[in-house]
Amino acid sequence: LARDFDVAVIGGGVAGLTAGFFAGRYGLSTVVVEQMGSGGQILNSERIENFPGFPGGIAGYELGPLLQEQAEAAGVEMILDRVSAISAGSPHVVSTDLEGDIRARALIIAAGSTLRDLGVDGEERLRGKGVSHCASCDGALFQGQVVAVVGAGDSALDEALVLTQYASKVLILVRGTRLRAQHALQTRVHNNPAIDIRYGVTVTAVLGDEAVQGVRLSHTDGGSEVLPVQGVFVYVGLKPNTEFLEGAVPLDAGGHIPTSLWMETAVPGIFAAGDIRRASARQLVSSAGDGATAAIGAHRYLSGQPWHGLSE
Ligand SMILES: Cc1cc2nc3c(=O)[nH]c(=O)nc-3n(C[C@H](O)[C@H](O)[C@H](O)COP(=O)(O)OP(=O)(O)OC[C@H]3O[C@@H](n4cnc5c(N)ncnc54)[C@H](O)[C@@H]3O)c2cc1C
Repeated sequence: LARDFDVAVIGGGVAGLTAGFFAGRYGLSTVVVEQMGSGGQILNSERIENFPGFPGGIAGYELGPLLQEQAEAAGVEMILDRVSAISAGSPHVVSTDLEGDIRARALIIAAGSTLRDLGVDGEERLRGKGVSHCASCDGALFQGQVVAVVGAGDSALDEALVLTQYASKVLILVRGTRLRAQHALQTRVHNNPAIDIRYGVTVTAVLGDEAVQGVRLSHTDGGSEVLPVQGVFVYVGLKPNTEFLEGAVPLDAGGHIPTSLWMETAVPGIFAAGDIRRASARQLVSSAGDGATAAIGAHRYLSGQPWHGLSE
């Protein structure tokens, strides 16, 4: 039997949970559907240093449950389930694997993104046998060993720093000529004697039989080499989680959802927030801001209030 809500939020990351508790506080009956656990991508992060209000930092596995608590206190129902499809209409319908259909007058899509794979030989075969996307989950398996981190952005540097708690050496492999991460992270990485950075290298294969034994590198200036490492941690960009949308909402060429400044998609009553939308700043605080904006937008849409003073 389908259940009815004013607002259905897809995804229980920082954007979705913030949207949820804002909508709940407006008195809207609200559901958040999350397939894994509250918190989204930072669920396994040991230290978030740039979320306002936590000068000493906070772990992702603490922030996620706090946001869920705040949403539930605002009357939001949390459902642990995967959304398989949506269908725009009046009401909109959200199909899930276990709970069946959820009907809602407004939708907020906050399904975030997933770390991209390298797409090279050996990566899939050795996943979980040395190939990983999560330093805090798998780092302890590499006690005293040498590991590679592939990438040059915030996530790569963050995770490299976590890995130094376990590995004897962390090699950051950068395709270009410089790092792209925040200055504060770059400074910490440069000051950490357990981290070395290699520029101008591309991983072309992950090597090993039962477990990772190395990576093959090609150099920008020609030539290649085999680098012996026991772990490979991959942070080479993000892929928006839009598979379940299947054309229900228009996407841009990169697969993100274009929105107005009020988080409206091209479909009336459907909003998008966080990493999944075009031009997101891809940070926790901006995702929270998007979620709040989307909920305010949904409230105005549902109450038929004119957008006077709010339009772009
Ligand atoms: C390793 C790492 C470290 C980071 N560190 C920081 C940091 O220190 N500071 C910072 O500001 N940012 C950091 N970021 C970036 C930050 O995590 C993202 O900007 C933020 O998580 C985006 O929030 P979101 O809610 O839009 O999406 P997400 O966090 O991706 O949450 C989306 C949620 O939707 C769920 N979902 C997806 N599809 C479905 C479906 N079909 N059905 C049901 N649920 C679904 C997912 O399970 C997920 O929980 C980090 C990212 C990574 C990968």
